[in-house]
Amino acid sequence: MRPKVITFDCAGTLIDVQWDPARLALETAESMGFELDTATASETYRRMLGARWPHFRELNLQRSEAVCDAFWREMTDDWCSAVGIPTSASAELLDHANARLFGPEADLMRPFDDAEPALIVLREAGYRLAVISNWDVSLHKALRRFGLAPYFELAIASLEEGVEKPEATLFHLTLDRLGALPEEALHVGDDPVDDLTGARNAGMRGRLIDRTRADSESPFLARLTDLPAMLG
Ligand SMILES: [Mg+2]
Repeated sequence: MRPKVITFDCAGTLIDVQWDPARLALETAESMGFELDTATASETYRRMLGARWPHFRELNLQRSEAVCDAFWREMTDDWCSAVGIPTSASAELLDHANARLFGPEADLMRPFDDAEPALIVLREAGYRLAVISNWDVSLHKALRRFGLAPYFELAIASLEEGVEKPEATLFHLTLDRLGALPEEALHVGDDPVDDLTGARNAGMRGRLIDRTRADSESPFLARLTDLPAMLG
């Protein structure tokens, strides 16, 4: 049966993400002329963020970009203090770091070349599209930034829901909001467990995107643009 709904993972599937928060903070500080002990500053960042992660998860349940932006401001302020950067430079540091993720010249996130062309064809063919991603509230910002948001009826970020792939609950709540049944849906992602096993356990079909492959033989997809022709 031809699916009615196609859901996509985001990182590694639609958008190539090379974000390491500690490395980004360190590189940004260095680009602003601050000389830091790399190992110590990096370790400090990881430790501080690790300790705050449960709090960040809680904040995401509020589904507010402003609330989570405030978290990163505080995190950056406190890291600056801890490694000897004047906190007066903290806001600029965070702006520079955010620019590498979401700015016009973003180099740590970029959509894969096959993503938008595939979405255009699928939308024109009448499929309902959604995103199911293990991501924080900034998923929406990323989809908007790269012009992908308009293709989707719904984008579900796991941290906003308090449940992650591969748990079936995340797939099911997405389908519930779309008013669709698992057997009417196909999920596409790059993680064999989170995306393929997760989708199948939720009663959906699954496809695994692997751009290193020469061709798209089920359950693999070598390119997202191969998907429309494989749907029958
Ligand atoms: Mg992924």
